Formats: sequence, structure tokens, C-alpha cells
Amino acid sequence: MSMDLWPTRPVRPGDPIRPSVRSSGSLLVDNIGELVTNASGDGAGGPLGLHRDAAVLVEDGLVAWVGSARSAPAADRRIDAGGAAVLPGFVDSHAHLVFAGDRAAEFAARMAGQPYTGGGIRTTVGATRAAPDSELRGTVRRLRDEALRQGTTTIEIKSGYGLTVADEARSLRIAAEFSDDTTFLGAHVVPAEYADRPDDYVGMVCGPMLAAAAPYARWIDVFCERGAFDVDHARAILACGQAAGLGVRVHANQLGPGPGVQLGVELGAASVDHCTHLSDADVDALAAHTIDCMCAEGRHSRTVATLLPGAEFSTRSPYPDARRLLDAGVTVALATDCNPGSSYTSSMPFCIALAVREMRMTPAEAVWAATAGGALALRRDDVGVLRPGARADLIVLDAPTHLHLAYRPGVPLIRQVLHNGVPQ
Ligand SMILES: [Zn+2]
Repeated sequence: MSMDLWPTRPVRPGDPIRPSVRSSGSLLVDNIGELVTNASGDGAGGPLGLHRDAAVLVEDGLVAWVGSARSAPAADRRIDAGGAAVLPGFVDSHAHLVFAGDRAAEFAARMAGQPYTGGGIRTTVGATRAAPDSELRGTVRRLRDEALRQGTTTIEIKSGYGLTVADEARSLRIAAEFSDDTTFLGAHVVPAEYADRPDDYVGMVCGPMLAAAAPYARWIDVFCERGAFDVDHARAILACGQAAGLGVRVHANQLGPGPGVQLGVELGAASVDHCTHLSDADVDALAAHTIDCMCAEGRHSRTVATLLPGAEFSTRSPYPDARRLLDAGVTVALATDCNPGSSYTSSMPFCIALAVREMRMTPAEAVWAATAGGALALRRDDVGVLRPGARADLIVLDAPTHLHLAYRPGVPLIRQVLHNGVPQ
């Protein structure tokens, strides 16, 4: 998990002098008007662990010290935040970046009144199978860079548009060049050539496809939904993945009520994603199982509910009821679901704004869910937080407070991004 597969871009002529991740030089981010740490041990600063007039010292790519600007230690280099807000980099725990093609026409048809059914996934599968590695790699790099410019310093990447042994394995091999958190989603849909024999497809996913994919994957995921995989197939696939050492996540309850959320809880999934159509029993199941964690609240849902409002926005569908989950004590994460069909956005600030405006999350809850919540959904304690020992992944806003991320929607507020302590 400490392995960093997110390469930093090479230095170009004219670039400012940048500290090397491996150098022993130190960097002080100083004159921070409002610092979001998500790490308030004594309860001061609320769940965001806010500090005023703060500074952060970075050494060897990690946070070395956090405190008052007045008592900041000396450092080799200094970034003056100019009184602006500084946050942990966003953790986007749900993205489908390995694909080819474009479904803009499908989006236009949907906006003209056609419903979203998930069937368009097969369009992307055809384009992805036909694309050379170089094209897939170029798309992942372009979207990863786009996300990074918008403050995302950790991004999960799924396969799921190959749906053959070779195409799933190469999708994950390419994804692993860009992220530690890669997810095998061979069970995205049943591909057309297996349409009348889904049992055979599930057998292949659990057999040769998993064997080829597992070396490049940290997680396994299933689209458990009417028209995709039923609960028995989903359970079988996730159990095979667990036996191969992969962690579990589930696409659940997106298009209608169903068993996906409770299956995820039953299997100890790190996250159930979408959660748009939930019963009281689903909410109760999520709230019933908790784990200790190092954050300000100390305890969280063992299975995080990851909400993906970009999908509801882009399919003109009702949003998940974030308030109901939060009020029940369920831990909520926000992610983009970046994919060419149902949510072609890489912008975590956009998702924060949607969550506040459309899902009745407070700005603080939404910022927490897009940082610490995403980290919990990936079972990581080294990102989504700014405390000594964490990765020095942080963003400087062009704004005095995190509130502006929802208050000023659509505005490019990310002034500077540090990834592993390196200005991007
Ligand atoms: Zn998805």
C-alpha cells in the first residue's frame, strides 16, 4: 500500500524548482488561513479538524508536522498559501477510467427523454476491445491528469469494459500503472456473446479471468442489479475474489431496490457504491457494523456507503438520500463514478457541490466524504488526512474556506496541488 504507482511528471524547462520525493529537503506550506486536517484528536475543530493560521511541514513526501504558523519550524523551501484554505487531496474511490470511445450521443438522447438502463456499457466494451494498449493508457493518463488538476491525489480505477480474460487483464495492468487501488470488475455486465448463458460467464469470471486479473488488482467489484448480476451470481463472484485475496466492493442499489447493499455488508465489503434505492433494512445493516478508526469520530461503518451524484446528475435520476444515511450513523463517501456512459466527470468539487445542493449534506460533511470518507472506502489511513506520517497530498484553494467548494460551483478553485509533497 505504500508503493506509489502514481508517477510524477518530469521537470520541464521553466518549471519552478520542486523538491524530490526522495530528497531530505523540507517544504513548509505556510500562511494557511484555514487548514482541514480530518484529524482532530481532542475534538477541537469539529470533524474536519480545522486549524486557523496554520502551517504544514513536508519531509520525504510525508506530512512531518502540523500546527500554528507562528510556531512553524524552519524548512528548506516555503509555499505561501496567502491566507487561503488548504485541504487533504481528494480521494476518488470509484472511477472507471480504462475504456475507449465516447457516448456523447447517448447522453444527448437521454437528455431528450430516453431512460438510462445500463445497456450502453456494451457499446464501450466493443470500443475498448478494439483499442490498442496505447490508446487505453492515453485515456487513463488524460483522465488521471484531469482529476489531479482538480485536486484528486488518490483515484481508484476499475476494469470492466474488456470482459474477456485478456482484455480484463490488460485493463488492470494499465490501471496499475496509475493507481494502487485497482479493481477487477469483470462482472460489470454479461457480455453479448454470453447473453443466453450467464452461468458460463460467471464460471469464467471466477476461473481464468480472476486468475489473470488478480495479480494487478487490490479489489473485486460486481454490478449487482437487475439486468446485470443477481445476488447468487454476485455472491459467488465476490467470494471467489475474496479467496484470491482481493477486498470486496459492490455496485449496489443504483437503478432500483435490491439485495446488493446487504450482500456487501454480509461479506464485509469496504464499500457499497451508489445506494440510491435503499430500504430501512439496508440502512440498518450499514449502521449495525462499525469499526474503530483514527479519525476524529473514532468509529465508522465497516462498510462505507459511497454516493456518486454525478451519475444521478448525468442520467437525470433522483439522488441518493445522504441525509437519511448520515442521520442513521452510516459513514458516507463521495466519488465521481467517472465513466463514459453515466457520469463523465472527473471533478470531485462538482460532486461536493451536488451533494450539498441536491443531497442535503452540509459543506463540511461533503468535504469530509470526498477526502476522509473516500480513504475509509479504500481502507486507507495514509490519505484523506493531514497528520504527521500521512502522505503529503494537499490542495491549496483559491478561496479562504472549504465552504467555497459548494458555494462557488463550477469555478476552478484548486490553485495548487501537492502530491507526495511534490507541487504538481
Ligand atoms: Zn461505477
